[in-house]
Amino acid sequence: MESKRQVLPVKGIIPFANVDGSGNRTTIFVQGCNLNCIYCHNPETIQLPCSETTHTNYTVEELITLLKQYSPYIRGITVSGGEATIYSDFLVELFKEVKKLGITCYVDTNGIFNKDHKLDLIEATDKFLFDIKGIDNLSKVTRKNIDHSFENLEYLLERNKIEEVRTVCIENYMDAEAVIREVAKRIKDYDDVLYKLIRVHYRGLTKEQVIAVKDSVPTKERMIALENLAKSLGVKNVMSIL
Ligand code: SF4
Repeated sequence: MESKRQVLPVKGIIPFANVDGSGNRTTIFVQGCNLNCIYCHNPETIQLPCSETTHTNYTVEELITLLKQYSPYIRGITVSGGEATIYSDFLVELFKEVKKLGITCYVDTNGIFNKDHKLDLIEATDKFLFDIKGIDNLSKVTRKNIDHSFENLEYLLERNKIEEVRTVCIENYMDAEAVIREVAKRIKDYDDVLYKLIRVHYRGLTKEQVIAVKDSVPTKERMIALENLAKSLGVKNVMSIL
């Protein structure tokens, strides 16, 4: 039997963040991602851990010691990345201990994982912040040919596990209207779920990424039109990040 992971490779920790789910939260960025998105704003987190220089390893006990300092001031933690679901076994153990501090556990995910292998993590997670990155042209954005994202979104919605769905809007690489139609179909009856439409931007990108993205940034007017499209399709809670 495969042994459980004893440490989590962490790229960074933000003690207090207010954009990674509701309330003030501590965000833990893991090292390693199963995708390689054209617009990735944390490209340094993509490489899977291969040397100690890319990250710091933490045990559950070390993370709990740290979180005890913050817990009076936060509503919970959010594990982001990279891709948090890669480390599901470790996170299940971490979340058990975090909940003893009386705070919640969120996962920020790219949505691309095999849910049948993540059932324990889904059970242990209070809410997911969930990316939808495309439909049939997904590999143009992610540069990987894997998907399950809509199936996973539906599964989590039915279990009241979704707080927020996000789509990074980028011209030329994805059909934003088609993506919004598919998302709206699924979330329009969930009034509490926020749909964030994020205009692709340059912050954190490498030079190569800037070259790839520079002609594909939607205008502000286009973003407002996309927001209006989502509303017209019945999504109650939509926000554009310009
Ligand atoms: S899923 Fe997120 S962390 Fe991974 S490559 Fe894409 S944008 Fe970057």
